[in-house]
Amino acid sequence: MNSNELASQLEFLRDIGVDSIGTVGAVYDRPGLRKDAEDLQAIRADIGDCRRCKLAPSRTHIVFGSGNPNADLVFVGEAPGYDEDQQGLPFVGRAGQLLTKIIESIDLKREDVYICNVLKCRPPDNRNPEPDEVAMCNPFLKRQLAAIRPKIVCCLGTFAAQTVLQTGASISKLRGKFLDMDGMRVIATFHPAYLLRSPDKKREVWEDMKQIRAELFRLRS
Ligand code: URA
Repeated sequence: MNSNELASQLEFLRDIGVDSIGTVGAVYDRPGLRKDAEDLQAIRADIGDCRRCKLAPSRTHIVFGSGNPNADLVFVGEAPGYDEDQQGLPFVGRAGQLLTKIIESIDLKREDVYICNVLKCRPPDNRNPEPDEVAMCNPFLKRQLAAIRPKIVCCLGTFAAQTVLQTGASISKLRGKFLDMDGMRVIATFHPAYLLRSPDKKREVWEDMKQIRAELFRLRS
């Protein structure tokens, strides 16, 4: 991390109300390989040059996901935006930079976690995903989670939370509480793009992140 990145990380921590920095040391050391990393590749191969829904003609790249295929923590967002569509990688725009800071706030690196979205293709003009698009794409997300088998899934924003948890409840109701799903602990928090518009919500995200850190610690002890 260079000095600009460090300054920006400290600024984020100050914004979310952190007034002292500790470390949890070896807790987040990478575990040994637990499962077959080929699984994700097989899912990506199955997606291929996907034409299953109406988003295909307008996308530049399919954004499958990136990070540690053996991650204990997976972040699920909504859908690629402009930058992600251009680069083929999730959360690389402004919201992605904030997500990186959020991850680092609990002493993890982006490479330690896995990041993906419900939709793998960008909806035109970043409109909300539509039910037929979700119906086509969600099975791939489910397969990704089954392949990675993380201990914790963190849903970013309303759309990811409602899709993963199969509920119509609002993000304000869903956030900050762990639920059990298929052997994983699932928690929702606000989407980083929402935090860019409503920075006062960063404190709640920090509360959620602290819960995630504590739960990871508990599950790994
Ligand atoms: N917003 C998302 O939900 N996902 C991305 O990958 C980028 C922005």
